[in-house]
Amino acid sequence: MKKVVKFGGSSLASAKQFKKVGDIIRSDKSRRFVVPSAPGKRNDKDEKVTDLLYQCYDAASEGKSYKKILEKIQERYTEIIDGLGLNLNMDHEFAAIEENFLNKAGRDYAASRGEYLNGIVMAEYLGYEFIDAAEVIFFDEEGCFETELTNKELGERLSHVEKAVIPGFYGSKHDGTIKTFSRGGSDVTGSIVAKAIHADMYENWTDVSGFLVSDPRIIKNPEVIEIITYRELRELAYMGASVLHEDAIFPVRKEGIPINIRNTNKPEDKGTLIVESTCRKPRYTITGIAGKKGFCSINIEKAMMNAEVGFGRKVLEVFEKYGISFEHIPSGIDTMTVFVHQSEFEEFEQSVIAGIHRAVEPDFVEMESDLALIAVVGRGMKATRGTAGRIFSALAHSRVNVKMIDQGSSELNIIIGVKNSDFEEAIKAIYDIFIATEV
Ligand code: ASP
Repeated sequence: MKKVVKFGGSSLASAKQFKKVGDIIRSDKSRRFVVPSAPGKRNDKDEKVTDLLYQCYDAASEGKSYKKILEKIQERYTEIIDGLGLNLNMDHEFAAIEENFLNKAGRDYAASRGEYLNGIVMAEYLGYEFIDAAEVIFFDEEGCFETELTNKELGERLSHVEKAVIPGFYGSKHDGTIKTFSRGGSDVTGSIVAKAIHADMYENWTDVSGFLVSDPRIIKNPEVIEIITYRELRELAYMGASVLHEDAIFPVRKEGIPINIRNTNKPEDKGTLIVESTCRKPRYTITGIAGKKGFCSINIEKAMMNAEVGFGRKVLEVFEKYGISFEHIPSGIDTMTVFVHQSEFEEFEQSVIAGIHRAVEPDFVEMESDLALIAVVGRGMKATRGTAGRIFSALAHSRVNVKMIDQGSSELNIIIGVKNSDFEEAIKAIYDIFIATEV
């Protein structure tokens, strides 16, 4: 058994957290490849080391005073190193970092040092080999991740290693410059490492016990999703549920390597298992509910629209012209509605309306703003009758007016449009009917 274990910033924010991580790793021999993030926040008011590094670099490269921020960063590591009782001196590393900052080595280089230094500390603490991600994870000249090359080199390098720490978040271009993934990118590194070594499992350790069925700011203590497919996850993540970096699923997805989201502070919890597909019956008909506010709808009506070839294309071209992407397009016989993000749309509102008039000569165009979209997602819906019925009767009972309904052909989700002001109430009603009262 080979497992890749990635630990997020809050799991490595202090010596105390490092010790929990050490216990987790030592309790299972198969946890052989470790991918750390940079130290995160120790409490709500604290700062992430990555953010401090960006600040420090910006100040240094603009000729402003940066020394205080650099000291703050060094203190974070000293606290961890001393707290773990390690005999490790990072002075030369910090001297090199300072010099490179002054020589404008780049913001990506700066940000990557959080993971780099944490990797050194982690390797020392565990007695694992340290492998600099710059030597095994590659980007091309445009900054795009090089999948094939990385997989080959990384796989080759790790095949000779029993246990190693590979810092997350960054790699290098061919000229040696450091390049990072987008924020939260250590999740992606973990997935890349898991693929390269053909891991049996990619464990992603964070500060929650997995994906929650719904947003805890709306539902008090929502249930944890035990098992979820990549497709379901994608639907929920798109609607705003986030625990894992979006790109982290791609390397492992096709390899049949499951991702297990675990809680460093509650290692006894099983967390959420993310898989390509499963025949395990879901506990509830629905897997999760997520949603977003801030949409508006543009309702276009024209008699005999259904007979007009190219109508939809002409309308969408107008949106395309202004760089506005659409979210949903429910349609009727003589009507077509386009849902867009209000913030993207507002600036071009009048031009888009004028454009639609010119393009398709509609009978009228009507708009409604301050709408929310809610996605009810679940692989179990396909095999269950009455799901839509239950959703809408629950919403009716809660006096929520449904503005739009859209069921994807995959039958994996039902999207419901409601007023922004009904958003929380609608989610509660759906949660109650499927989770709180379903056994
Ligand atoms: N440290 C980086 C960030 O804060 C990457 C990561 O934690 O995954 O975004």
